[in-house]
Amino acid sequence: MTANLLDFDLEGLAAWCGSLGEKRYRAVQLFRWIHQKGAADFDRMSDLAKSLRAQLATGAELRALPVAAEHRSADGTVKWLFDVGAGDAVESVYIPEAERGTLCVSSQAGCAVGCRFCSTGHQGFSRNLTTGEIIAQLWHAEHSLRGTLGLAEGARAVDNVVMMGMGEPLQNYAALVPALRTMLDDHGYGLSRRRVTVSTSGVVPMIDRLRVDCPVALAVSLHAPDDALRDSLVPLNRKYPIAELLAACVRYLEAAPRDFITFEYCMLDGVNDSVGQAHALVQLLKPRLACKLNLIPFNPFPASGLKRSPAERVQDFAHVLQDAGIVTTVRKTRGDDIAAACGQLAGEVQDRTGAGARMARRRVEIPIALEGRA
Ligand code: SAH
Ligand code: SF4
Repeated sequence: MTANLLDFDLEGLAAWCGSLGEKRYRAVQLFRWIHQKGAADFDRMSDLAKSLRAQLATGAELRALPVAAEHRSADGTVKWLFDVGAGDAVESVYIPEAERGTLCVSSQAGCAVGCRFCSTGHQGFSRNLTTGEIIAQLWHAEHSLRGTLGLAEGARAVDNVVMMGMGEPLQNYAALVPALRTMLDDHGYGLSRRRVTVSTSGVVPMIDRLRVDCPVALAVSLHAPDDALRDSLVPLNRKYPIAELLAACVRYLEAAPRDFITFEYCMLDGVNDSVGQAHALVQLLKPRLACKLNLIPFNPFPASGLKRSPAERVQDFAHVLQDAGIVTTVRKTRGDDIAAACGQLAGEVQDRTGAGARMARRRVEIPIALEGRA
């Protein structure tokens, strides 16, 4: 069977090269060609032995994801819709800022968690992405943007990756970890572990495993200060209630004491946005752990029956948290003209790509990880 080289982290590639009788340094060279230089053509890899190149030509490939659509916003935001086959599509969004570029990456086609406010959740689960499909989103973004942004030799486009696209990354753990390791690897994308964020709705056992296997930055989608409300918004809470989730967060920070957890909180009109709920949140978080709060303006979609909180209420909520000493940001939305903000993508995808009925049925949800101080 032909191996997809994007499926391997460096150790995996070294083992695969080993099976061909090649030494580890050959795997390092190959890994650098793929991830640092963006080479997909083995003939270009001039420092590899001809015999290895011949073996690669017959037994390996670099399986990039077909781009079903690409949209560029006036503010520089770029959004790609990738075709992952069988009518499924996933999306990645690049958000440029003055100091850095952030890429929002998907981990699954659909999502099984089924949060009430999330259009991906409403569509249900299709399948896990492979490691190669997760990394292919970064590979494509990084290497296509270097050209279109006209970056100098050695400069990189993506400085920050957030696993905040479609899907629950910690329900696709086996594929996620090698992808994260490739992002962190100095021979790969060389991102520091604070610049790679896994966002989760709270899969407690996997938070514990991530702490051991690959402790990158952690964002937890909280959305409610008590179990009754969280049960109704994030069904996974019935399995892993808030106390267990926060205990896992505390353990996570024990491994990295200078870090903090980012809690995401989607502001839903009349549901979770009262000043009383803000105080309850302070009581819940303040005594337990170092954290930041990221308040996300809800991007409505008809099936949710929910509405975005008015800006004033978001400000009042933020002030309660800030007065209690919790660093709180209100997420700005970007790429409005290309509908790249959270929950906005579905209709747009249906309208413009014409990529087939099944793909069109699959709504895509990309939160924009750009923050502005409240
Ligand atoms: N499954 C993971 C990561 C993907 S969702 C998680 O839930 O954390 C990433 C973020 O987008 C989550 O914080 C989620 O709450 C938020 N989100 C989902 N739907 C949204 C919507 N309609 N409007 C605003 N934010 C939304
Ligand atoms: Fe899944 Fe995250 Fe959407 Fe919940 S918010 S349904 S966990 S993608």
